[in-house]
Amino acid sequence: QQHPEPSEPSFRQICQKHEWFNKPQNMFSAVFVVLVTHRVFVNRSLTLENIKCYGFDMDYTLAIYKSPDYESLGFEMIRDRIVSIGYPHELLRYTYDPSFPTRGLVIDTMYGNLLKVDSNGNILVCSHGFRFLKGENIHNYYPNKFIQRDNTDRFYILNTLFNLSETYLYACLVDFFTRCTRYTNLLTGYQLGDLFMSYRSMFQDVRDAMDFIHDIGILKERTIKNLEKYIVKDANLPVLLTRIKDMAKVFLATNSDYSYTEAIMTYLLERPKRSWRSYFDLIVVDTRKPLFFGEGTVLRQVDTDTGKLRVGTYTGDLQHGTVYSGGSSDIVCDLLDVKGKNILYVGDHIFGDILKSKKRQGWKTFLVVPELTKELHVWEEKKSLFEELKCLDSFLQHFFKLFSRLVKLCPEFVCDVAVGLCLQVLTYRMDISYGQMGSLLRSGSRQTLFASQLMRYADLYSSTCINLLHYPPNYLFTAPPVLVRHLSCLNT
Ligand SMILES: [Mg+2]
Repeated sequence: QQHPEPSEPSFRQICQKHEWFNKPQNMFSAVFVVLVTHRVFVNRSLTLENIKCYGFDMDYTLAIYKSPDYESLGFEMIRDRIVSIGYPHELLRYTYDPSFPTRGLVIDTMYGNLLKVDSNGNILVCSHGFRFLKGENIHNYYPNKFIQRDNTDRFYILNTLFNLSETYLYACLVDFFTRCTRYTNLLTGYQLGDLFMSYRSMFQDVRDAMDFIHDIGILKERTIKNLEKYIVKDANLPVLLTRIKDMAKVFLATNSDYSYTEAIMTYLLERPKRSWRSYFDLIVVDTRKPLFFGEGTVLRQVDTDTGKLRVGTYTGDLQHGTVYSGGSSDIVCDLLDVKGKNILYVGDHIFGDILKSKKRQGWKTFLVVPELTKELHVWEEKKSLFEELKCLDSFLQHFFKLFSRLVKLCPEFVCDVAVGLCLQVLTYRMDISYGQMGSLLRSGSRQTLFASQLMRYADLYSSTCINLLHYPPNYLFTAPPVLVRHLSCLNT
């Protein structure tokens, strides 16, 4: 029996589904979100007229992986790998849940906790496996509710979207061993007979499993076999790159190897009589960012017929259509004859792409934040909660001023009833709308480490680089001047 092809819903059906006829404010809100998700946001003013060169990262920047299919694939591979090296078979029952992990979480490899922190290292959310810890329980691990995140031996920041599957697998391991009666729970790991398994070794095993599936190339192989399933193909991407190449130089700098880059970019850009390589003045693979923005590695030419590297360092001028491997950002500037301040670099990795290119080379930066679309939708729906939070904050300020004596006499009342309940409930209601770990950018009214790095290092940011198409080629992106707090108080 044949099923009829599903047809696109009509405008009337969409209106009925969202009750737009009887609630027109819902339609205005939906239109607003669509407009906002196409915007490029500005942290520091920048005129495109001064940009002589555009650089692009590939993974999650030009090639957006489909969520949650791609993360599920990665999760299943590292889960199977972990079991194949000796972890219990019961772990195979876990499947990827996209509502749990958020990018930017920190793993505490000593106590096995997942932490969401602000820019100073204050803990906003803490989970042990899938169990969220509150008040006293957090204090037992972290007496100041604070971590010294410079301690990179102990704390590992999950900066990229590639990290989501390992974040989730680590939570699965902690969940399993904590609940499994064969194992005894200790402060820094689990005991089974005379065998001790530390949270640290479990973390290392998850990292090694991730490196293993990357090194042997099975994740790439499966992705290439089913590109439609795992990668978003947007007809506007070649339009954007063509427009940019007409007015500036364009380069690609990716950590991926040549054969994978070739497969992905062919899928995204290849047209009849036009090779994907013709969209770029320079193509560099195996860049090993963030090393690329510092000392870099040896620059070699890639033989595009065989995919093999030529022996020796390349010393000649730029040849169009040639693909290079390794090198550094300084070499890119030399080959393209362009200064750092005239480069706009577009990437998704807050540390490897944006922080390093800005701090070490002074490049202009554009951060791609694919999560922004969902964040904006939730914000539009739930922003009344944020208003409530702000009202509550200001109520508490007045309360403490007016009833300072009562606060001294009866601090439990104020803490438990006023602060404890209202603020926590509101924060929780806001956070849970985004997912179990809350928003990428905030917890209640407090900003995450990721949000503070985004504001500090990304000149521009948007959900996709294709949104640049909505702006004229010489557009001036302006950010309102930000005053230091004491001056902004004088202004209001
Ligand atoms: Mg990337």
